[in-house]
Amino acid sequence: MAHQWQGVIREYIDRLPFAESDPIVTLGEGGTPLVHATALDARTGGEVYVKVEGMNPTGSFKDRGMTTAISHVLRSDAKIVACASTGNTSASAAAYAVAAGLKCAVILPAGKIAAGKLAQAIVHGANLVAVDGNFDDCLRIVRELTERFPVALVNSVNPYRLQGQKTAAFEVVDALGDAPDIHVLPVGNAGNISAYWMGYSEYAGHTTLASVDDSALHIEPVATKVPQMWGVQAWGAAPLVLGHPVEKPETVATAIRIGNPASWKYAEDARDQSHGWIDRVTDEQILEAQAILAAEVGVFIEPGSAASIAGLIKAAEEGKVPAGAKIVCTVTGNGLKDTATALAGRNLEINPIEPTLQATVEALAL
Ligand SMILES: *Cc1c(COP(=O)(O)O)cnc(C)c1O
Repeated sequence: MAHQWQGVIREYIDRLPFAESDPIVTLGEGGTPLVHATALDARTGGEVYVKVEGMNPTGSFKDRGMTTAISHVLRSDAKIVACASTGNTSASAAAYAVAAGLKCAVILPAGKIAAGKLAQAIVHGANLVAVDGNFDDCLRIVRELTERFPVALVNSVNPYRLQGQKTAAFEVVDALGDAPDIHVLPVGNAGNISAYWMGYSEYAGHTTLASVDDSALHIEPVATKVPQMWGVQAWGAAPLVLGHPVEKPETVATAIRIGNPASWKYAEDARDQSHGWIDRVTDEQILEAQAILAAEVGVFIEPGSAASIAGLIKAAEEGKVPAGAKIVCTVTGNGLKDTATALAGRNLEINPIEPTLQATVEALAL
């Protein structure tokens, strides 16, 4: 019988606040590859898998939360959705708004959005506003906007976002047969680490601070355990590591360039309840991790995603990775969104040669 992945709401509807009769907006998100990264086994001494979220319809994990947030909007009277964004939220909101027949407004920090992400918001017809400020300023404005106008907020402060995003943890358990020992994530606004913790906890039969109902308590547990949650921030945007907001967050990893995370409490809860930690890595470590994943594993990710890999490598160097531990790193977004950063500092001068086999063989030094 023909079968196609149905998108995260239909695949996990018994664990989400939706009924079969509800309108559902999906672009087929979720069902992303879990790739065994043997090169990282060798570097860390663990058994390392990467959850390749760049394979989602708009190229980041944001689609998991957008199918739920935008489907929920269709149960209300709102005709416009709005978000603040470091890039991927706006790309996803714009695409799902198209699928839903809604208008989309996005508030962006001027000059800090990767070209690929900006292109997505533009081609999907979003109404863009660039603010001379950072992401935290944009989120404040969009919150005020949605309080005063009939506009639905689709940032991760909307609880439906985390509901959709928790399905990634379900998929990991479904693929491995149980929860891993450790799960590593980049942390920006801290919604995703909170969502994974909720997903793992609910699959093991208990709820978390972020849970919206107690349905998990009434469904047979799928997992026998939960992983330690390891969160990784960028050095210049590490409020959860420092314990206070960062006024002027700076990092090459624009997706996690956030100084005052909205899901701060949930993230601390995930860290503490799971006996995990949140650390920070430098831009240099992030770019090196991005290059390692591309050249040694075959997966091209954006800098924000590479924070998880950089954090794992750093932990291994500090002797914090237990031998043989089963580890999943979420790599959150597709490298094609920001080729300028990936190519910075590389030699791009490829001189043309004669169109002959001989010249080609010489050029390849075969
Ligand atoms: C949004 C995003 C993050 C940060 O996720 P939070 O839920 O804000 O912590 C990391 N990487 C990419 C590629 C993102 O788009």
